Amino acid sequence: MKDNTQPPGHIPSLVAGIAPAVKAVSSQGGDILNNAIRQNVIDNVAKLKSATPILSAAVEDKKLEVVGGNYRLKDGKVVPSCKGSSKRLGASYTFAEMRESGVRGILVYCADYQCSHSIAISGDSWPDDVRLSDIEARFICEACGKRGADVRRDFNWDKKRVRVIGYR
Ligand SMILES: [Zn+2]
Repeated sequence: MKDNTQPPGHIPSLVAGIAPAVKAVSSQGGDILNNAIRQNVIDNVAKLKSATPILSAAVEDKKLEVVGGNYRLKDGKVVPSCKGSSKRLGASYTFAEMRESGVRGILVYCADYQCSHSIAISGDSWPDDVRLSDIEARFICEACGKRGADVRRDFNWDKKRVRVIGYR
């Protein structure tokens, strides 16, 4: 790419796709290849996030997280561009981070999608350094008896509490 020669086959379209990223990093020095790969992922994640009103609205509502990844030609594996970013949204929060975000309750969904039993409970009893994903395997569903759950932050934790107390 440095000498502007035309490569064969589909390669020109691939090169055109990453050219902006290469241009952006080539003045920065350092490892140009690695920097270009990273910049290309950053560019495409940004593009996807704002691509359509539906996608960007979902990102805003935190229903969707756009995660950068690299498709490695070497072994065909998709590797996330940064550690931890491939985890399901919310699951990688620690209880400390959850409390910092102003949420005190968790929603526990039965891992069996056919059962779909769920409960809303307080997260206060778990210590700060435990991740929400750490406790998923420890739940046993009250309805179907199966072990395993999806644990999410309960953004409505304070509203539910009001309903439980009752207000007349
Ligand atoms: Zn269940």
